[in-house]
Amino acid sequence: MRVVVLGGGYAGLVTTRTLEGTLPSAVDLTLVDETGDHLIQHELHRAIRRPEFVDRISLPLTDLLDRATVREATVASVDREDRSVRLADGDAVDYDVVVVALGAGTDYRDVPGVAEHALPLKRLPHASRIRREFRGVLDAGGGRAVVAGAGLSGVQTAGELAQFARDEGVAGHVEVVLLEAEDRVVPGFPEEFRAAVREELDRLDVAVRTGTRVTAAGADAVEMAGESVDSADAGTLPHGLLVWTGGVRGPDALDGRRREVDGTLALDERTFVVGDAARVRDGSGAVVPPSAQAAVRASETAANNVAEAVEALRAGREPAFETWTFETPGWLVSVGDGAVAQLGPRTFTGPTANLIKSAVGVTYLADHGSLADALAVLREEVEAERDLLDAVRERVGEE
Ligand SMILES: Cc1cc2nc3c(=O)[nH]c(=O)nc-3n(C[C@H](O)[C@H](O)[C@H](O)COP(=O)(O)OP(=O)(O)OC[C@H]3O[C@@H](n4cnc5c(N)ncnc54)[C@H](O)[C@@H]3O)c2cc1C
Repeated sequence: MRVVVLGGGYAGLVTTRTLEGTLPSAVDLTLVDETGDHLIQHELHRAIRRPEFVDRISLPLTDLLDRATVREATVASVDREDRSVRLADGDAVDYDVVVVALGAGTDYRDVPGVAEHALPLKRLPHASRIRREFRGVLDAGGGRAVVAGAGLSGVQTAGELAQFARDEGVAGHVEVVLLEAEDRVVPGFPEEFRAAVREELDRLDVAVRTGTRVTAAGADAVEMAGESVDSADAGTLPHGLLVWTGGVRGPDALDGRRREVDGTLALDERTFVVGDAARVRDGSGAVVPPSAQAAVRASETAANNVAEAVEALRAGREPAFETWTFETPGWLVSVGDGAVAQLGPRTFTGPTANLIKSAVGVTYLADHGSLADALAVLREEVEAERDLLDAVRERVGEE
């Protein structure tokens, strides 16, 4: 019997690690990933300002797994009828049960010129390119960077760019603009969290323009429509850098579609889709936001249902899958050197939020990476913000 997991991001890694502990030893377990590394993608924006972060957020999958075989290859398609995964190099990997955890690509929403002129932010080379081009803006003595899409990744990218300009002492010459089609930043998140994120962006002088859609993009300017368009700019915004964080699409291996699954994460009795590759309507009927947090949380159910599928195939019976419902303790984002943490009904900003953010990252790495990696990240966080612990101590003393 052969179980194959496609993708070594949050969903693929956590599902595989769980299966290593639960699948009978006779079952062959393989993880296919095109990079061979696990990327801690929710910290990717940090690598724009701090390239040294790259080593901290990219970990070889072979170091993180015990029993599974890691195969470095690009998945081209999944043939459910033949139960075979086609690889870009022409090889095929056959399976009895497959987990598709290939994450998401960038959705340019067919806006003319965006795919050609905007930079996405999903993988390490994207962060390096954004850094390089923003450095060009800084070196030219100033200019404007436009980030289109104010979801989790857009907000954090705009924050990094604004902080980058501050760190270089040229904030007065660089404008960072964050465009969002809806009438608020981080739409879909709780109101208090949204308000705190907006305050952090204002603190860094990010020019937030909500209710504003990009209608076209060129090499030097974007065209916009919507409520923030005024007669001064007439809907044309020149830029030295354009980053597009305006949407996600399914992986190419799934024809660009995020497959719809319910809380069992099953497409059929042998195929599971988990993480951003899936559009999940969970056990409560709610659509789950594509996020690292949801990918990690869904993976336990994905692994349990894979183990059940294997058992049912061996016993020649119908599987009985469990259903997952997304429950979140809260949300966390960094905005430059600041952060916003929403935990239950409380929202934190400043050093407390920073500390919570670091602690969560460290816990993730300690659970799914290694303690050494976790401590290295913590050290880096603390070194980068020398005053952090003192500030927290002061704050705790005050309360
Ligand atoms: C800048 C940024 C900031 C973010 N901040 C947050 C945040 O604060 N909180 C939060 O919860 N979420 C955040 N997110 C979203 C979060 O990172 C994603 O939701 C999460 O990575 C999804 O996990 P996944 O396992 O589904 O996919 P991924 O983590 O994208 O993993 C997919 C894996 O599949 C592999 N792969 C892809 N295609 C192929 C192929 N054809 N063949 C073989 N392998 C392939 C990739 O190499 C990768 O290892 C952020 C995202 C970005 C970009």
